[in-house]
Amino acid sequence: MKELEDKILSEGEVYPGNILKVGSFLNHQLDVDFLMKMGKEISELFEAAGITKILTIEASGIAIAVPAGYFLHVPVIFAKKGQAKNLSGQTYSTKVKSFTHGNLYDVAVSKEYLKSTDTVLLIDDFLANGNALNGLIDLVNQAGASLAGAAIAIEKGFQGGGDALRNKGIRVESLAIVDNMDNNTVVFRS
Ligand code: 5GP
Repeated sequence: MKELEDKILSEGEVYPGNILKVGSFLNHQLDVDFLMKMGKEISELFEAAGITKILTIEASGIAIAVPAGYFLHVPVIFAKKGQAKNLSGQTYSTKVKSFTHGNLYDVAVSKEYLKSTDTVLLIDDFLANGNALNGLIDLVNQAGASLAGAAIAIEKGFQGGGDALRNKGIRVESLAIVDNMDNNTVVFRS
């Protein structure tokens, strides 16, 4: 998505550890008009996939999952981090390795909201090594639901998570793929 690439170039900041900060529109302040455009783009990519639920992970994935859910007319579930003490009833849970902190954390969804009859679209803000998406895939598999694929705002292609999932036959659509950020210069996959 050209407009996202332009926004990353003008507003993104490269931090040590191969972290791209996009706090001005996606990760801290939310550019709602622009999030709606990204949600529309995702809905057009997956409109024929028979999606019944979107699954994301709190907190940053929610901002892009909600507009996609609006255009696809489906509910958005966000997997909750932590021991899920505030979830009632039974849950599916898994462990995810944090990209930014390196630690393992639990994520959970209530069995009430993810069913074997669902066709699920995964959404997240960033895709790096693929740990967050693999955790969400585990939750979908535990529920016996069908996986339609994953839609990501910004994939850091050089970290390999997206291509590993594609090689497993999973449909991964990223609105922008960064191929490298050497010398603080963002280069996109063409
Ligand atoms: P993965 O699990 O694919 O290694 O990393 C994806 C998760 O880590 C995303 O949910 C996102 O929150 C976070 N993340 C990974 N790389 C970046 C980055 O460069 N910038 C930001 N803001 N978050 C990132």
